Amino acid sequence: MSAQDDKLQQDTLAIRGGYQRTHEEEHSEALFLTSSYVFENAEMAAKHFSNEIQGNVYSRYTNPTVRTFEQRLAAMEGAEQAVATSSGMAATLSVVMALLESGDHIICSQDVFGSTRVMLNNYITKFGVEVTYVSLTDLNSWQQAVQPNTKMLFCETPSNPMSEVADLEALAAISKQANALFVVDNCFCSPVLQKPLHWGADIVVHSATKYLDGQGRCLGGAVVGSSELMEKVVGFLRAAGPSMSPFNAWVFLKGLETLKIRMQAHSANAAELAQWLNAHPKVTKVFYAGLEDHPGHQLAKKQQSDFGGVLSFCVEGGREQAWRVIDSTRVISLTANLGDTKTTIVHPATTTHGRLSDEDRQQAGITDNLIRIAVGLEDIVDIKNDLKRGLDLI
Ligand SMILES: *Cc1c(COP(=O)(O)O)cnc(C)c1O
Repeated sequence: MSAQDDKLQQDTLAIRGGYQRTHEEEHSEALFLTSSYVFENAEMAAKHFSNEIQGNVYSRYTNPTVRTFEQRLAAMEGAEQAVATSSGMAATLSVVMALLESGDHIICSQDVFGSTRVMLNNYITKFGVEVTYVSLTDLNSWQQAVQPNTKMLFCETPSNPMSEVADLEALAAISKQANALFVVDNCFCSPVLQKPLHWGADIVVHSATKYLDGQGRCLGGAVVGSSELMEKVVGFLRAAGPSMSPFNAWVFLKGLETLKIRMQAHSANAAELAQWLNAHPKVTKVFYAGLEDHPGHQLAKKQQSDFGGVLSFCVEGGREQAWRVIDSTRVISLTANLGDTKTTIVHPATTTHGRLSDEDRQQAGITDNLIRIAVGLEDIVDIKNDLKRGLDLI
């Protein structure tokens, strides 16, 4: 980024950061759909390959469109550097592969994204890395889980689907004392609502597939942090190849331009729906950190600028009643995805959390009467009516 960019506000950088026009003087950012780059002569090729000249060599590790996305996101998170990856899972994989080694230990919050758990349990442990799961909100259990070989603390906040909130500042302190890296999956908030690096996290991972895109089109991810750490992540990406496609990067960087107003609108819609559900006689409980009686409310207020678009609620009865509400919707999409302009609905116990044992599911609070909604940007009146239809049938 140029020195001039550094002086701009983050909201401006979300729209203009990281880009220098080509000689065609285009206004919207150019999309470089190219896998490789040509050199003027053999000497220039040699200098590029030896890193004597920093430039484009091959799109597995450098592409101007991907770089624009990376610089824009880094500016928004208040970070030195961002590294784009092919998916959110590739971002987490790259962090673990680049920064841990056999014999190391990770402490992870138990209600992280399902595939994060599967990846750690089924693959990362194969390489001799130990994992301990703890409750997101129980600081004592994090502290007690620290071992001499603990090298990473990993959490996701707010959690899915219960909207539990981690104390980022306290976890950063535990992590620092243990000499470990603190990694936060910031997918649910995006940098607009929460900047974990500000609270002491070392690394942020993103699934760009969700709010950064915002319209459910592309898969992608990112790792954000200091240049020193990101250099190691780039090294893994360069060697192993889970890189972001330039086309997807172009979609995401256009997404960043509207991220702020979308996150504000998602949050406003979700807050209104949470209040409405809370007052509905057939709804027994609403989980949304924006509600004042939610245990994470004060903490969320401190470390987030708003409460985001995801909430869940319990209906009177069990699975049959929850399914009836879901099956009665005509507007809302029945899909596990989130972070879309279109509102989505899912029954966690039989889909996203169906692979958990009954005991783990109970412990996580995923009861059969729980429904999760990722509130989109439609008129909230239509979303309420869509849910009312099913709720009236219970
Ligand atoms: C979706 C998601 C991921 C994984 O991202 P992909 O882009 O699907 O690989 C990771 N963390 C959270 C919180 C997610 O919602």
